[in-house]
Amino acid sequence: MTPSRRPLIAGNWKMNGMREDGQALATELAGRLRQEAAPAFDVLLCPPFTLIASVGAAIAGSGLHLGGQACHAKGKGAHTGDVSAAMLADLGCAFVLAGHSERRTDHGETNAEVKAKAGAALAAGLTAVVCIGETEAERKAGKTLHVNGTQLAESLPAGATAANTVIAYEPVWAIGTGLTPTLEEAQEVHALIRAELFGRLGPDEAENLRILYGGSMKPGNASELLALPDVDGGLIGGASLDADDFWAIAQSCP
Ligand code: PEP
Repeated sequence: MTPSRRPLIAGNWKMNGMREDGQALATELAGRLRQEAAPAFDVLLCPPFTLIASVGAAIAGSGLHLGGQACHAKGKGAHTGDVSAAMLADLGCAFVLAGHSERRTDHGETNAEVKAKAGAALAAGLTAVVCIGETEAERKAGKTLHVNGTQLAESLPAGATAANTVIAYEPVWAIGTGLTPTLEEAQEVHALIRAELFGRLGPDEAENLRILYGGSMKPGNASELLALPDVDGGLIGGASLDADDFWAIAQSCP
């Protein structure tokens, strides 16, 4: 983390929670943020679509940010079961994830589709959290840097800036497994992402754009991951469903 970049701690609730659970967790987290005298981090909650409205109501005025987990690339139309970026913005979302590995796997989202969805997010005034990461097979084949460089190049939308885009590096093999890369490995990928952003967006945007780490981030490993020079926060799945764990991670920001 570099002082110029404010850490972002993002909770991806995935397909978890009924209204009562979501409201209770959001209310608890809003209370914790209010108790922070001068929080040194931003916090984002990405509940499932069904909970966005109630979570939004629970966190209103708290300073917590609200986001969707996915959106369609088109603004409206005959796309049964999908929601547009503008619909998320209309519900009070300021962020949306694009290209989470579970979307890439479960829904076959390609880099081109992720780019289109992230572009739609920017057009709707949302900040896109563009997710990339190598699989276990790609890691074992020594392709980690190549895969992440390609995914970034092909998924980053036109018009991306440090103000409207966040990158999340999430090694697929680390998501939900309890496994994490070594600190050296994590920093190597984050530094590669920063260097690619430098070439694509120029030094100022690259220096200010936040790059999150995601994949089994927990209270026990958050401090060392968040202290890495090019890690500017975390995208947290499992541990974001527990207020104590999620808040302990947020408070681990340097
Ligand atoms: C995620 O799905 O974005 C994630 C990082 O999950 P977990 O923290 O459970 O590994």
